Amino acid sequence: MKQKLIGPFTQLLPMTGITVNGAVKDEQLLVIENGGIIVENNIIIAIGQYKDLLKQIDIKDTLLEEVKGDSVCLPGFIDSHTHICFGGTRANDYAMRNAGKTYLEISKAGGGIWDTVTQTRKASILELEDGITKRANKHLKNGVTTIEVKSGYGLSVYEELKMLRAIKNVDNRIKADLISTCLAAHMHPKDYSGTASEYLEEISISLFPLLKEERLTTRIDAFIEEGAFTAEVIAPYFKKAKEMGFTITVHADQFSTGGSKVAVDFNAISADHLEASTAEEIEILAKSTVIATALPGASIGLGCAFTPARKILDAGGAIAIASDHNPGSAPMGDLLTQASILGTFQKLSNAEILSGITFRAAAALNLKDRGVLKSGLLADFSAFPTSNYKEILYQQGQLKPEMVWKNGAKIDF
Ligand SMILES: [Zn+2]
Repeated sequence: MKQKLIGPFTQLLPMTGITVNGAVKDEQLLVIENGGIIVENNIIIAIGQYKDLLKQIDIKDTLLEEVKGDSVCLPGFIDSHTHICFGGTRANDYAMRNAGKTYLEISKAGGGIWDTVTQTRKASILELEDGITKRANKHLKNGVTTIEVKSGYGLSVYEELKMLRAIKNVDNRIKADLISTCLAAHMHPKDYSGTASEYLEEISISLFPLLKEERLTTRIDAFIEEGAFTAEVIAPYFKKAKEMGFTITVHADQFSTGGSKVAVDFNAISADHLEASTAEEIEILAKSTVIATALPGASIGLGCAFTPARKILDAGGAIAIASDHNPGSAPMGDLLTQASILGTFQKLSNAEILSGITFRAAAALNLKDRGVLKSGLLADFSAFPTSNYKEILYQQGQLKPEMVWKNGAKIDF
């Protein structure tokens, strides 16, 4: 395939030169005025000033993909935590919660995670694939080119397999990349007669080998929380997962603490939620290699506190920001809107927010081939119709990208 020169972009922010950990000022952002990108197949060959790239190319062998009007180019966003494979809706839960009903009252009325488990089990694999496709394509339109998707509404070997196969099938078909995660340890299934430990043991013995065999995922997640799984119960499960070569990620400190310590102890790639983290958890996370992931969509959906992102960054930690898109606590599924709102409440710079949804989110998924724009990496990027990158977060998610490229190809919406 011929090379392509794409541009000129009024501003091009490659998001390079910033560390994965710690606070970042906007002055540290590299902003290339009138920038361009040379792409071959799905890979970036060069980035720089458009006029310099024009001199560099052999015009006979290069296609010029001209960008007209004002545009700010950013790396494709990465949403490192979603639950977009599900059946049904939880609109009733949402209404009841906002009407002041307690968790227990909602659960008694047939709501809560178990309702989604029931609806997801009822759905055929094709119905699940249809739901994932619609939601993922909406994310892609909003500039999100890589989307993590968890299982966790199946809660049996058979149903978890159905979910993970659905995610894999959709990944093979759509333009966005889906990174799957097994969250069979989401909750102790109500219809399982044994203990939580027995359930996890059965999953690790019967499901883990199939995940390997069918290449369904390399990632194991668990919800560490009072009412879900304790640190003690999860330890043998994570140990087994690590022995088999899976990487670990944790739903940690959402309502009570304990999860982030498990994440650090098991050398997890990321610890997500952290709304309840105290100074102690912030310190152990900041000293570790675990990426702390803020999920503002859950805070907005539940009307709860935000992850203490400012404190984690100031302590030297790494903050990724993800949507947690799910039918219960985070139905919005708009990463940019949520990230900009987290920024106003947590006092995060533009640089910190954009880092959190690009290369720091890539780190939260252990992906080294994306998240910044530089030669040799995937050509995933988008262009917003403005001349000033600061407009993007200022418009709080309402300024959407006009063009999105995935693997070097501009997507036709
Ligand atoms: Zn989650």
